[in-house]
Amino acid sequence: MEFRDLKRQYQIHRNEIDTAIQAVLNRADFIGGGQVAELEQKLAEYVGIKHCIACANGTDALQLALMTWKVGKGDAVFVPDFTFFSSGEVVPLVGAVPVFVDIEEDTYNISAESLERTIQHILQESDLKPRVVVAVDLFGQPADFEQIRKIANKYNLYILEDAAQGFGGRIAEKKACSFGNIATTSFFPAKPLGCYGDGGAVFTDNDEWAELLRSYRVHGKGKDKYDNVRIGLNSRLDTLQAAVLLEKLKFFDEEVEKCNQIAAAYTEQLHNIVKVPTIRPEMTSSWAQYTIRFRNSEERERAIRILKESFIPSAVYYKKPMHLQEAFKSYQFKGLDYTVTESICERCLSVPMHAYLDMGEVQHIIENLQK
Ligand SMILES: *Cc1c(COP(=O)(O)O)cnc(C)c1O
Repeated sequence: MEFRDLKRQYQIHRNEIDTAIQAVLNRADFIGGGQVAELEQKLAEYVGIKHCIACANGTDALQLALMTWKVGKGDAVFVPDFTFFSSGEVVPLVGAVPVFVDIEEDTYNISAESLERTIQHILQESDLKPRVVVAVDLFGQPADFEQIRKIANKYNLYILEDAAQGFGGRIAEKKACSFGNIATTSFFPAKPLGCYGDGGAVFTDNDEWAELLRSYRVHGKGKDKYDNVRIGLNSRLDTLQAAVLLEKLKFFDEEVEKCNQIAAAYTEQLHNIVKVPTIRPEMTSSWAQYTIRFRNSEERERAIRILKESFIPSAVYYKKPMHLQEAFKSYQFKGLDYTVTESICERCLSVPMHAYLDMGEVQHIIENLQK
C-alpha cells in the first residue's frame, strides 16, 4: 500500500497523459510551449482569480510574492509554527525576519488570536515593521481567512495564502488560492494537484503585481529576457509539466470528491478512538493529508508500529515546530508561546490518503488503528 499512490493514478489515466507528453516531445518546445499559457488560463478560471503565473515550484512561488511586495530588511513576516519548512524559509531569503505564530488546536491552521498577540509583541519589543502574514491551508483545509483578514486590515498587512496543500479546497463556493492578496500553490507530485516533477503557481487579481511576477519569474525581464530591469529568478514551469497538469486538471474534482468520501469513512469509524480532523462547517478540504491525533507520543509510536507490521505506511507531519528548526535559530524571540504546536507535534500522525485507495484498504487501515 502506498501513502499517496501516484502509480495507480498514472495507470488509470495512462493514455491521455502519454499522448499529452508525446505532443510536447514532438514539438520539442520544452520551455514556454503553448500548454503553459493554456494551463495558466485554466487554473485562473478554476480558482476564480484574474491572473495565474506558473513557476518552478511552490517555494519559489512564495519567494516571488515577497519579492513583488518588496519585502526585505527590517520587515517582519508572520508564519504559522506548524507547516512545511518552505513557508518560513523564503522570508530570510528576501532579507526579512520570520516571526512564528501558534496554531488553532482543532484545525492546525494559524490562530488569528495568536497572530494579533504576536504582532503586538513584535511592535513593542522590536524595530521590525509587520508587513505580511503567511496563511497556510494546512492538510487541505483553508485557513480562517475571515478572522485573519480582520487582523491584517487592522495592522495593514498583506495576506500571502500558501495553498501548496490547499489547492482544491473551498470556503463555501470560493476556492483556495483566491483568499490571499497573493496566493501560491505547489504541483510537487504528492500535493493534491501534482505534476511529474517540480512545479508551482502564483495567483492574484492585481494587474501590476501580475506583471512584476512575470518579470521576476524570468531573470527580472523587461521587454524580453535579454532586457533585465530587476534582479529576478529563473523559475519557469516547463511545458511537459504543464501538459501533464492540463490532463490531470480534467479529473481533479473527481479525485477531491473521492478523497472526501475516504475521509468521511475514516472519521466515522475512528472518531471514538482518536482525535479526527475538524473541518469547519463552511469549509471543504482537498485532503492533502488525513491527520489524526493521539493522547501522547507513546500511543502514537505504538500505532506507527502496529500499522507498519501490516505494511501500512504513515508519516508524522510535522515532527518539529518551525521555531525549533536549527535554520531559524537566529530568529528566536523571547516571550512568544507555542504550546499548541509543541503539543501537536508530539501526537499527530498522517495515514494513507489519496483518491485511488479502495474501500477495502481503508477498512484494513481502520481495523489496524482500532487495534
Ligand atoms: C510543499 C509545500 C511547499 C513547497 O512546495 P515545493 O513545490 O515543494 O517547493 C510550501 N508550503 C507548504 C505548506 C507545502 O506543503
